[in-house]
Amino acid sequence: MLTRMAPTPSGFLHAGNIYNFILNWLAARKAGGQVLLRIDDLDAARMRPEYLDDIFRVLEAVGLDWDVGPAGPDDFMRNWSQKGRMESYIELIEMLNNKGFAYACTCSRKELAEKGLAGKYPGFCRHKNHILVTDESALRLNVTSLPEGCWAGLNEQNLEDPVILRRDGIPAYHIGSICDDLFWEVTHVFRGQDLKPATEIQQLIACAAGLTDFANIEFEHHPLLVNDEGEKLSKSAGANSFTLLDNLHNPVPVILHSFALWKGMELKDTRPEKAADLLDFYIV
Ligand SMILES: [Zn+2]
Repeated sequence: MLTRMAPTPSGFLHAGNIYNFILNWLAARKAGGQVLLRIDDLDAARMRPEYLDDIFRVLEAVGLDWDVGPAGPDDFMRNWSQKGRMESYIELIEMLNNKGFAYACTCSRKELAEKGLAGKYPGFCRHKNHILVTDESALRLNVTSLPEGCWAGLNEQNLEDPVILRRDGIPAYHIGSICDDLFWEVTHVFRGQDLKPATEIQQLIACAAGLTDFANIEFEHHPLLVNDEGEKLSKSAGANSFTLLDNLHNPVPVILHSFALWKGMELKDTRPEKAADLLDFYIV
């Protein structure tokens, strides 16, 4: 078993991120498996060094170790950045394009919002034969063109055409995620319920590209951590404007204790100080 902790250094980690890492870590450690730390820095414009540092600080404080991945921020920048794997991402995008599954889309986010379609995309450019030009068009996958077999087992039958190459020329999140999970041979992914559509898009993309091994990765989706107003943490205002470590008094036991409550784990009198203290109480 290989699970992964896959943070993005575009903000300070929030409790929802950490719960997710603890879940992936516990699942691997309980099964005698391994953990990969795979930092998603494709979106370089949003990355900041203090966010990268925060990832390592928090993981260390909570006691979440990993078997595969960068030793620290410097090692990450030198040897593990997704920029070093760009070739394999472009190869996947070209494969999809060469098979006729992709098309250039010139619709901007603003145009879609003005049409009342914020966050939605009904495939306006599917048959317009636009030419792909960096900063003018993105490349989208035409989900209606994919082999029927790729839809087997998927719940979402109305997925929208996802961007696979962004307008700024950067491969989309899904592309990096698929390539990296395959490259490191991840076997199990525990991710939030909000990423269920993302999982299905990734399964579709991988199937369309003939990356059959991706279908063997087990995905499990967990309920999201919400704030008192019922909002998803990552979306609530200020959720990642500070590092959790400096903002909570005695943060690690607080995080571990509330994680245990969230998971319905019976800790009895145990006061967890590190993630490993939860191992005995974790039931698969
Ligand atoms: Zn379009």
